[in-house]
Amino acid sequence: MATVLDGKALAERIRGEVKADVGELGALGLATVLVGEDPASQIYIRRKHEAAGEVGIRALDVRLPEDTSEDELIERVEALNEDDSVDALLVQLPLPPHVDEARVLRALDPTKDVDGLHPWNAGHLFLGRPTLVGATPVGILALLDEYRIPLEGARAVVVGRSDIVGKPVAHLLLQRHATVTICHSRTADLARETLEADVLVVAAGRPQLVTADMVKHGATVVDVGMNRTDAGLVGDVDAAAMDVAGHMTPVPGGVGPMTIACLLRNTVRAARYRRGTLVFPRR
Ligand code: NDP
Repeated sequence: MATVLDGKALAERIRGEVKADVGELGALGLATVLVGEDPASQIYIRRKHEAAGEVGIRALDVRLPEDTSEDELIERVEALNEDDSVDALLVQLPLPPHVDEARVLRALDPTKDVDGLHPWNAGHLFLGRPTLVGATPVGILALLDEYRIPLEGARAVVVGRSDIVGKPVAHLLLQRHATVTICHSRTADLARETLEADVLVVAAGRPQLVTADMVKHGATVVDVGMNRTDAGLVGDVDAAAMDVAGHMTPVPGGVGPMTIACLLRNTVRAARYRRGTLVFPRR
């Protein structure tokens, strides 16, 4: 039976550290922008605001109607860039189809971009330089480190290549000297790849895509998936993989709480950039 990678417990500790940082830094502001009424996005935004409130971060909740134009949205983002009470800023994705997501993300002030989606931050991650990296990938690495999972020389397989999870987590694993394979919907034989993994990170959004027979004995499995089904919230990995894996995250209680805690930690990082106590990579 796998050792559970307890994201809930570690997240609680990180939130405690953030609270202490907030006490030291003084007033901190996190602004979120939500366009439209996507139910899942509304839940995520609510959780982020609750978590921010608990550690004393002032959270500004900007809600815009579904039919907001791209230009109006960008104007709001630019106003938040200029707002000195806002240290950290995120635009909840997905945006409505009439909005060019890439253009909106480019409008973010990179020093406030706590999701690490501005090309400046994504580029610095690619180059292996310290920058703002999204909370989910950062949280996954923090969890692996907490349990001292060896990464150097390990075979890491990431299932999923999204900009928000798959690609950044693959880069962080590469920075830590893992041998990284990225799989996606066109991967010819997924099981052949996953069976090679010492560290398997699954972020596909497909319930039970990875079954126990696709996991190498003793592997570390990080299940990022959050799928709402009739049976409740399930991950992308069949829970039976717990019998094969050496370490595995539960769903819920694994990556989810880590994402929220690391968003708060990223907010502190952004605040330090703005206060000049941490140097933002300008070049
Ligand atoms: P996306 O839908 O953006 O990306 C999914 C990725 O999985 C794509 O790269 C896709 O491939 C790949 N994929 C889909 N089906 C298969 C398949 N059958 N075999 C192999 N690869 C496949 O999702 P996200 O990255 O945003 O999120 C992934 C999951 O993680 C979701 O369940 C989401 O809810 C969850 N999530 C959880 C978070 C947390 O805090 N716990 C935070 C963020 C996300 P292709 O590129 O070829 O289409």
